[in-house]
Amino acid sequence: MNKTIIVWFKDDLRILDHPALYHAAMDGKVIPLYIHNETEDTNSEWYRLQAITAFQQQLQDKGATLVIKQGNPVQIIQEVVQAFNADAVYYHYQYGPESRKQDEQLMDCLSVPVRRFHGNVLTEPGTILNKQQKPYKVFTSFWKSLRSLPIAKPYPVPHKVDWYNGKASTVPHTKNSQLNMYWQAGEQQALYKWRRFLHDQIDDYQEYRDFPGVDATSRLSHHLSHGEISPKLIWHEAKDALEITSIENRLQHTMEESTETFLKQLVWREFAYHQLTFFPHIIDQPLQTKFQAFQWQKPDPMLLESWKKGLTGYPLVDAGMRQLLETGYMHNRVRMVTGSFLVKHLLIHWLEGQAWFSRLLVDHDLANNTMGWQWVAGTGFDSSPFFRIFNPVKQAEKFDPDGTYIQKWLPELRDLPIEHLHFPQKAPEEVLQDAGITLGKDYPHPIIEHQYARERALETFQQLKKEERNH
Ligand SMILES: Cc1cc2nc3c(=O)[nH]c(=O)nc-3n(C[C@H](O)[C@H](O)[C@H](O)COP(=O)(O)OP(=O)(O)OC[C@H]3O[C@@H](n4cnc5c(N)ncnc54)[C@H](O)[C@@H]3O)c2cc1C
Repeated sequence: MNKTIIVWFKDDLRILDHPALYHAAMDGKVIPLYIHNETEDTNSEWYRLQAITAFQQQLQDKGATLVIKQGNPVQIIQEVVQAFNADAVYYHYQYGPESRKQDEQLMDCLSVPVRRFHGNVLTEPGTILNKQQKPYKVFTSFWKSLRSLPIAKPYPVPHKVDWYNGKASTVPHTKNSQLNMYWQAGEQQALYKWRRFLHDQIDDYQEYRDFPGVDATSRLSHHLSHGEISPKLIWHEAKDALEITSIENRLQHTMEESTETFLKQLVWREFAYHQLTFFPHIIDQPLQTKFQAFQWQKPDPMLLESWKKGLTGYPLVDAGMRQLLETGYMHNRVRMVTGSFLVKHLLIHWLEGQAWFSRLLVDHDLANNTMGWQWVAGTGFDSSPFFRIFNPVKQAEKFDPDGTYIQKWLPELRDLPIEHLHFPQKAPEEVLQDAGITLGKDYPHPIIEHQYARERALETFQQLKKEERNH
């Protein structure tokens, strides 16, 4: 019990259901460590620093000091082990290729024991296999398999921790950003949001989750990707709520279906980690190898820029891209529509989209973002097939029927009557005039015509299939 243990916090900035912390607290004195090693100026990194500040305060309130260092983790951990004369290092696995490489280096050079835990997932990635002992490639089968498994219970907050309490470290400086208006970091905030969603909103999830103008999803993704809440806690609290509801028989059907849909969505995250573990090349190569020969267009900088800035002339696409620019978030349905527009209408490689999202998403998560882009591009295992091309106007009419979302993010279109809001290009001149819009000046003409783009994409896909047959 007299051991000194370093708990290395990474994307797990919490104390509830933190297996590494829980075991360290049982085994000895805990030195909480965070290593800042990001050089890229991304929104996710901005949020991480807010989360670190909140976490530092949370620990301070418990009489603990978070040791914050900057630099190469492999080197820093060795230095901190020496400085504290530590006996062991505990932390949670990460699953990206870079993290795994770093992990191996650490295992090679550390002179003290290391204990690692699967703290940020429901199940250990790589352990859910089909009857042939092969990884699942289809989500529904993966979901059914996982749903039938007992998921381990979350760890409680350790009852008593012998924390390190020393000189406070400084959190690296963050730029002043408009993001401040949209985000509040911290484990308490994450738990509060989750429980409020579970009690007041989850019933509507099934019906409204695809409508970006309705506040019907959990908005937990940034808390999950920075580990301010654990998926196991969410899983068990949702299942417990289901049991209570079924006993009370109140609103049973809607609640059950809706909660099940929500849990399924959470398992997409798990599926992403599963894929990243088995197929690490997913981060930059198509999972369906035939797509290596796909004829992507050389990105036209003007078109790419119009997409990034939300100036394509398709309101739902533009609203999504502006929401992303302004807030660092985009609704899931709109991520699909904007992603599809980039890869299918503009035929620009999905890696361009993946890179832009990874820079702007506050909830950026390597596994989810990569799987999302492979899904959108039709290059993943269980993706939307390439030939299914979203019509951005029809998607807008279907999922933003009253225009709430478009009007929020495209103020220049606010005065357009609803029947023209989803595609101003088709509005009569006098309607545009009445709404104070000159197309090409206040709002762009479409940068590409939908029917033309659709046919070009399908032809390019046919070409790929022809080449495949010839090989
Ligand atoms: C092109 C593209 C890129 C994406 N990039 C990311 C990303 O970088 N980080 C990220 O967390 N999600 C990503 N997603 C998935 C999804 O859009 C977001 O998780 C979701 O919009 C977050 O909002 P929410 O928390 O309200 O979701 P809810 O609908 O409330 O879902 C609850 C949680 O389940 C998980 N989840 C839900 N849908 C998915 C999904 N399709 N794939 C994986 N996990 C899911 C998330 O952790 C989410 O917070 C991406 C999707 C696409 C199509």
